[in-house]
Amino acid sequence: MSDGGKTILVTGGGRGIGAAVCRFAAEAGYRVAVNYASNETAAATLVQAIEAKGGEAFAIKGDVGSEADVLAMFAAVDSRFGGLDALVNNAGVVDRKARIDEMSLARLERMMRINVIGSLLCAREAVKRMSTKHGGKGGAIVNVSSVAAVLGGPGEYVDYAASKGAIDTFTIGLAKEVATEGIRVNAVRPGIIDTEIHASGGQPDRIAAMRDFVPMKREGTADEIARTILWLLSNEASYITGALLNASGGR
Ligand code: NAP
Repeated sequence: MSDGGKTILVTGGGRGIGAAVCRFAAEAGYRVAVNYASNETAAATLVQAIEAKGGEAFAIKGDVGSEADVLAMFAAVDSRFGGLDALVNNAGVVDRKARIDEMSLARLERMMRINVIGSLLCAREAVKRMSTKHGGKGGAIVNVSSVAAVLGGPGEYVDYAASKGAIDTFTIGLAKEVATEGIRVNAVRPGIIDTEIHASGGQPDRIAAMRDFVPMKREGTADEIARTILWLLSNEASYITGALLNASGGR
């Protein structure tokens, strides 16, 4: 399967699942734009690793929840690549384990701004470039949701789960909206995946605590999710749009 010559933008591409998507995309022949929020070292190291293997990549700092940053990010992709074939809306955050009666407005606004509005803003800019209605040549979008959208995250983070529910609904609607414009839109719902996101939410031991609740009795890897995303982006999945694909070990 080769996607040579195509271009891809991966939000939150510096670490975790996004970084694995960037590595596999480069191996498949994509030219890769690696967005990150603040960890410049991780993004730069990833770009160097891709270039060392003969791939093409560059890093772009930007908060997906900021419209100005999103516009600047897409302008940078335009000037570097001259087009966009694939977008992975991967950037996302969790917060401390809490009940709804402990959640501040600031927390809720940050969660929705980054996880929901960020993905919508990036999809908007991608559609402007990919849609045949706008003179584009089509493309593919994968939104990174979560099984939390289905499970609800009670006692842990219902706000995060609700943000991913919004991503699922957005995926269904946008897929239908642009189905005749050459763009496929799908979502992946990871389960418990071994990345630093759990520690960033104050639960570094979350994987060990949750492992037994997974039917396959193990966490997933960022590589396993990235492979799923690359497949949905590829022509192997040419008749798939609006799909919400669980990649969660049966959870
Ligand atoms: P991670 O290891 O914490 O990495 C998150 C990435 O997103 C980092 O590159 C980070 O940038 C970037 N990021 C955070 N906020 C951003 C913002 N406002 N604008 C741009 N980039 C931002 O997370 P992950 O586990 O790979 O998660 C990736 C996606 O998978 C998220 O949408 C998450 O909700 C979803 N997911 C993860 C799991 C899991 O168990 N890991 C399960 C279900 C769904 P810096 O490197 O600059 O900090």
